[in-house]
Amino acid sequence: MVEPFYPVVSPFVAGLRCRCPRCGEGALYQGFLTVRPACTRCGLDYGKVDSGDGPAVFISMIAGFIVVGLALWTEVRFEPPLWVHVLLWFPLILILSLGLLRPLKALLIALQYRHKVIEGFG
Ligand SMILES: [Zn+2]
Repeated sequence: MVEPFYPVVSPFVAGLRCRCPRCGEGALYQGFLTVRPACTRCGLDYGKVDSGDGPAVFISMIAGFIVVGLALWTEVRFEPPLWVHVLLWFPLILILSLGLLRPLKALLIALQYRHKVIEGFG
């Protein structure tokens, strides 16, 4: 039996678009963070994918770097009262965390597929 040919899809493109790591077209999620059982386009089984805590670690580092850097710069430059920091950085932390969670989880799943980290997936 001949396997269907799938062009090589960059894990970064597929991950950041939240698409299937094999075909690059099918949706990866069926909710905010729930991974579909299989790709709707090529049928790749997502049953074994597990990104674990990886996305949370990267989000902590990225969002922490951005928010702490901006907070330090704001404090040194403007010396605002504490409530200004709360108003500025709390929403930014939420936006960055929720905004990065889906693409980073999809990126880690795509990298697992590309590098055949999980047996039977990739
Ligand atoms: Zn697919």
